[in-house]
Amino acid sequence: MIGLEVHVQLNTETKLFCPCSTKQAEPNENVCGVCLGFPGTKPVLNEKAIELALKIAYALELEINKEFMFSRKTYFYPDLAKNFQITQYEIPIAQNGKLRVGDRDIRIRRVHIEEDPARIVRKDDCALMDYNRSGTPLVEIVTEPDLKSPREARLFVQKLQQILQFIYVSDLEKEGNMRIDANISTIRYEDKYDYKGGLKTEKKYGQRVEIKNVSGAKEVEKALGYEALRQKNIQNVKMETRLWNEKTKTTSSAREKEGEADYGYIFEPDLPKFELSDELLNKIKSKLPELPGKKKHRFLKYGLSEELIDTLLTEPELTHYFEYMCETHNEKASAVLLAKYLKKTLNYHNLKLKDVPVDVRQLRRILDLLQQYLISDEIAELIVREMVKDYIDGKRVRTPEKILIDLDYEKPLEDEQLAKIVRIVVSEHKRAVKDYLDGELKSMDYLIGHVMKKTRRGADVKKIRELLKRELD
Ligand SMILES: [Zn+2]
Repeated sequence: MIGLEVHVQLNTETKLFCPCSTKQAEPNENVCGVCLGFPGTKPVLNEKAIELALKIAYALELEINKEFMFSRKTYFYPDLAKNFQITQYEIPIAQNGKLRVGDRDIRIRRVHIEEDPARIVRKDDCALMDYNRSGTPLVEIVTEPDLKSPREARLFVQKLQQILQFIYVSDLEKEGNMRIDANISTIRYEDKYDYKGGLKTEKKYGQRVEIKNVSGAKEVEKALGYEALRQKNIQNVKMETRLWNEKTKTTSSAREKEGEADYGYIFEPDLPKFELSDELLNKIKSKLPELPGKKKHRFLKYGLSEELIDTLLTEPELTHYFEYMCETHNEKASAVLLAKYLKKTLNYHNLKLKDVPVDVRQLRRILDLLQQYLISDEIAELIVREMVKDYIDGKRVRTPEKILIDLDYEKPLEDEQLAKIVRIVVSEHKRAVKDYLDGELKSMDYLIGHVMKKTRRGADVKKIRELLKRELD
């Protein structure tokens, strides 16, 4: 039985309760009296954080609490200068949602907003404090213990990440912007015989163990896999908090688990009770981007393979480009150019499309060239690679035509050379030749394609056809 608490840093410009910047900076540069917990300072809520949390709430189909408040969670630790964290306890901003993973709905218990504590950097035998992170806005997404395996937990996190990416609420590529606590208890089934000798299977719930600070989907699967195995091999599982070590791939005991009551929650007296207007809610709901699940459904109608669609859905920008290109060009050709050639090149350089603003008009131009048989698939891929390379080199990105010239692909082959290639293709594809001679005219296109492939340059299709006909008739 697995439940997750996923902490996501919201991409606001400023912190949750003060005007300090959330941008990267030298340690302890983005701080003020509020986020350092000076006496007498008062928090002021950042409305942008509320809007982003509401986007998440709508995307995960949660019920929104139009009236909500904040509470103080009291604990003493140097990463929290005030000695309490402002969070939501009694009334979160939203509750009771769901996220479908495979063929099961995983229930979301609640989504609440809270401030992130400071970062502790351990160096030699010192602990260094960086309060830049103190007070940055987080949402915590808490599931019911509905997940049944480490694998399913991983799929859940992947799906959640994808949705968060598509609604632009968090910069998930940045390290540490998603942190997960995972709860796991193993269920044992024991066979018992009653006095009549009848067999009964009893379900026995183990103690709940919490694994802290796991960094992503793959780590969640590994940490839970390790913990499930550990619990299976010991007699009495203690209720406790354990820490996941990414290097050793093991968990170790951190503390015996405290109950929520130990935190001594009280209402935050410095913040008023908040009331969301219908106007704000409607605005956010109507502006919510189309979610990946819905997009996939729509793209399937274009007759694209699931593999192609899933690749497009790895980045919202890829799907935006796809939709632009579909306005003027064939869906399949657009998807292949983006999902196969462009994405492959970006992956190779460890880049995202949003980092490389390739001009969509140039991509359309490549499709034109392909459609007119002026270039082969390989050349199309080569052009895409060159365009991305121009960008990486900090150069002005060249047009497809310019790249063809630079690569010396513009000169048509001498007739004699072309005729030679045609003869080779004819000898290599006897079956297609026979089909053509038997009246299967489509086989001609097949042969032309192979000649194009061999020439690796923009040969004249008309000429190829002519030469092929001459060769075959
Ligand atoms: Zn501040």
